[in-house]
Amino acid sequence: MYGKGILKGLSVTAKRFWTTYWEDTVWFLRRLTGGEKRYYSPEGIARRSSKDARGIFTIQYPEEKLPTPEEFRYIPLLVYDEGDGGQKEVRCTSCGICAKVCPPQCIWIVRTNDPKTGRPVPQPAEFFIDADICMNCGFCAEYCPFDAIKMDHDYEIASYTRNILDLDHLLKSASYYEEIRPQNAAQENEARRAKEAAKAARASA
Ligand code: SF4
Ligand code: SF4
Repeated sequence: MYGKGILKGLSVTAKRFWTTYWEDTVWFLRRLTGGEKRYYSPEGIARRSSKDARGIFTIQYPEEKLPTPEEFRYIPLLVYDEGDGGQKEVRCTSCGICAKVCPPQCIWIVRTNDPKTGRPVPQPAEFFIDADICMNCGFCAEYCPFDAIKMDHDYEIASYTRNILDLDHLLKSASYYEEIRPQNAAQENEARRAKEAAKAARASA
């Protein structure tokens, strides 16, 4: 009984092995007549990720990468809007809510103080996230009242040292955010516009 099971398992592996070469040949011949590439092309990746995949179904990382779904979460980013003069208008007010709700407490914020009056300015002077501790839960992004912190898609941040990300690493433009999360960004922009319109209507009433 065991012998039969082992043979059956080996036959599945052998079938997958030979089908890979067979499919490579078929795709190569198709390519000669202007067909799509099996490797290093979005169509090839889509085919190998589908239920119709035959033979190899792995991705040749890092040359190939799986498309990232919009709701994929990795380390947070801080959004800034681009002002008319190209200046970075950081949305974060350093209110500290994200740091409070972060379950592993991996966010540190230093608020800006006015050098003359010593009064707090709603802007972060420093903002750190310990990426080695962050568990990618997205709570910070959920709770931020200013749409200032969002979950990034960039997962290629491995290093030989501790990954403590500062403002230089965390700040990314609103257009980058709109590119990686188009539906989320469109909904948030719409909600923000509606809020501003309601505020303007109240002020003029
Ligand atoms: S990212 Fe949002 S929640 Fe966190 S400190 Fe800045 S404004 Fe507050
Ligand atoms: S994603 Fe979760 S763990 Fe990471 S910084 Fe945000 S709240 Fe903290």
